Amino acid sequence: MQIQTGKRIELIDITKKVQKYISETEVQNGICVISTKHTTTSIIVNENESGLASDILTLLDKLIPAHAGYAHDRIDNNADAHLKAVMLGSSETIPVIASILLLGTWQSIFLAELDGPRTREVTITVVSND
Ligand code: ZN
Repeated sequence: MQIQTGKRIELIDITKKVQKYISETEVQNGICVISTKHTTTSIIVNENESGLASDILTLLDKLIPAHAGYAHDRIDNNADAHLKAVMLGSSETIPVIASILLLGTWQSIFLAELDGPRTREVTITVVSND
């Protein structure tokens, strides 16, 4: 699944796209692995609330400011994006029951763009337990 991002750093809610993908498979019960193919993006699960999204991005910039003397900046100038991606992780695994992602009321799945904007590839793998 391709996602076009619009900013250098942002959270994009991909829950509906993942659910649509599952709905188009024959799988009723199993697990869904959502994974990014990039080293400067992450997949996370949290609440879709604009203030919280801002807080998460602000925290990442406080913990890992850009251009803080990183070795990787000498060849690619985006070390902070890689380091943020390491902290957040590259995939999430969500149970699927009756063809529905088993998320809590306040849980959404996000692609975290950390060095955009770019076209990004997110892989969805559904493993059936039917
Ligand atoms: Zn790099």
